[in-house]
Amino acid sequence: MKRERYENSRRLFWKAERLIPGGVNSPVRAFNSVGGNPVFVKKGKGAYLYDVDDNIYIDYVNSWGALLFGHAFFSVVDSIQQQALLGTSYGIPTEAEIELAQLFVDAVPHVEKVRFVNSGTEATMSAVRLARGFTGRNKIIKFIGCYHGHADSFLVAGGSGLSTLGIPDSAGVPQGAIADTLLADFNSLDSVALLFEQFPESIAAVIVEPVAGNMGCVAPVSGFLEGLRKLCSQYQTLLIFDEVMTGFRLARGGAQEYFQVEADLVTFGKIVGGGLPVGAFAGKKYIMDQLAPLGPVYQAGTLSGNPLAMSAGIQMLKRINRDEALYRRMEHKTAYLEEELKSLFEEFKVPVCINRVGSMISLFFDSDAVTDYASAQCADAGTFRAFFQGMLEQGVYLPPSPFESWFLSDALTQEDLDHTVEAARTVLSGMVK
Ligand code: PLP
Repeated sequence: MKRERYENSRRLFWKAERLIPGGVNSPVRAFNSVGGNPVFVKKGKGAYLYDVDDNIYIDYVNSWGALLFGHAFFSVVDSIQQQALLGTSYGIPTEAEIELAQLFVDAVPHVEKVRFVNSGTEATMSAVRLARGFTGRNKIIKFIGCYHGHADSFLVAGGSGLSTLGIPDSAGVPQGAIADTLLADFNSLDSVALLFEQFPESIAAVIVEPVAGNMGCVAPVSGFLEGLRKLCSQYQTLLIFDEVMTGFRLARGGAQEYFQVEADLVTFGKIVGGGLPVGAFAGKKYIMDQLAPLGPVYQAGTLSGNPLAMSAGIQMLKRINRDEALYRRMEHKTAYLEEELKSLFEEFKVPVCINRVGSMISLFFDSDAVTDYASAQCADAGTFRAFFQGMLEQGVYLPPSPFESWFLSDALTQEDLDHTVEAARTVLSGMVK
């Protein structure tokens, strides 16, 4: 009897569901919005994922953006192995923390000090606490459809899994925890200005994904980030760039370098750990020194600055430093994919809006311009679902949600890109009959 294509994955998912809520340890990994079961991965190498049924996929998720150089990148794996032999955690300072901090400060503009944590959520949560402690104010502005991790104060009108699963706010978050979270529309300076007029002396921080990647990929319109900078300076509010996705992806110096806009605090995750659990938040000395043990803002972590994670991060940043052409190459690869997909969709007369910034890209079916959460929500989720399943069948792994950006890795070759476009041609031929 012929074996079913995803048989082993299906079996593992049944087992997982009995032991882990929803069978997954993070909601966006479930295939709720695209149907079917998640595939279970056996290994990753370079641009490819191998599942437990021996299907091979070209990966456009790359651990949600963490793997800039693809899977099992040699120098990262090697350094983790070397470090593991010396111990996996000490809870005592190491030289590696200084080395990564130096690489970090050298790369990221306007940053003098950095603190390492274990996830993007910890980074954003701590940055907001620091902003509140520093300014003595409580309110923050976040943008509808932006996702900053799962800390209580951000779980209102969030993107990512909240959009994917259609959850406006999370149960279990007390009203008090979000009472000081003000909501504005991404790309609308007017909506931000209005909040500042209402609360001129109460807003500690504006937190923004400089390129929104959690409602699909949505670029800032010209002047938006600059306008935020101006408003924040005018009202003595800190501007926080949440660069968990964009950090070291758009440019070595992240969105601050890419858009030439200065933030007061910057948060990182993903690429900084090269696939290990790391986050970081950083800024000028006079703000960062408000943190304990120097200042009154408490923040801590048993595994923070973990030696395995630091060694992986050091290899990632050194690799980025060595390669002057890296970001031009990433731009070129992603622009090629964008152009090829655009002409393919035109050929098949399938209306689609393709948004791209650097190596972040996503498709919105049946949409005109997508510039904010409301326009992203208009995209046809049913067509995405069919496209996703078709691409999976053709060996291309896309994010299992219409509200997530795709992330390219430098491991992708021209052949991989061409194979992806050919796969899309086959899928569209089946969809448009
Ligand atoms: N901020 C942004 C912009 C993110 O995209 C994410 C996660 O995808 C986070 C924060 C939270 O990071 P983590 O999942 O590492 O906690």
